Amino acid sequence: MSELTLSFVGTGNAFAPGGLCWNGFLVNGRYLFEAPPQALMSLRHEGLDPNDLDAVIVSHHHADHFLGLPFLFLYWKYQGRTRPVKVVGPPETKDVMEQVTERTYPSLFEASYEVEWVVAEPGKDLRLNGLQIQPVAVKHDDKLNMSLGYACALNGKRFGYTGDTAICDGVLDLARHSQVLVSECASRSGNVPIHMNLVDDMPVVRAAMGGNSTLLLTHIDSDVDSNGLPNTLVARDHETYRF
Ligand SMILES: [Zn+2]
Repeated sequence: MSELTLSFVGTGNAFAPGGLCWNGFLVNGRYLFEAPPQALMSLRHEGLDPNDLDAVIVSHHHADHFLGLPFLFLYWKYQGRTRPVKVVGPPETKDVMEQVTERTYPSLFEASYEVEWVVAEPGKDLRLNGLQIQPVAVKHDDKLNMSLGYACALNGKRFGYTGDTAICDGVLDLARHSQVLVSECASRSGNVPIHMNLVDDMPVVRAAMGGNSTLLLTHIDSDVDSNGLPNTLVARDHETYRF
């Protein structure tokens, strides 16, 4: 495996345009960023064993990023998981998930493995085995508890993930940090509130990045392309990118 491997379980925005799976990606086969509703299905479609996950890292609690967790917990409970798993997310991630599951899969957490809930918030650096994570404040849905991006390092490679956000200082900090930036790009030119688009925002993000760094677009509408931006790729469902 190369130093940094990103495998996309989905790349679509919340509307699943053109049948795209909802956005999420697996880093080096061990760290799942976001738990979209089809996460378990996508992992199994790729022949990946969900018991191999060390951690799930969610950026915020919108359903397209979060409601795949119950299915992962279900798999882990009944399909032989014994070692602990970490779930990283904004404050109250544990509470929100427990509210969902107590009405949908009661007894889900009476299991033979342990869930370690890790609260992420700006200013609190996290380390998950070899993965370093700095949570970054971004500008998304004010009615949610908190929305985060993540500045990360693994195997000497710096990568970032914007989560869902309008363009803001946090996004530009991530752009400057990252050798590979996974950025949301929810539409081509539309003014989708609290999100970024290809025509207006991605040139600004790209310009803040180092010239040899790669911009990798996800959480997309079906007509998003690289639009001539340098070192810019559009992620595809079930594709793996190696850096
Ligand atoms: Zn969102």
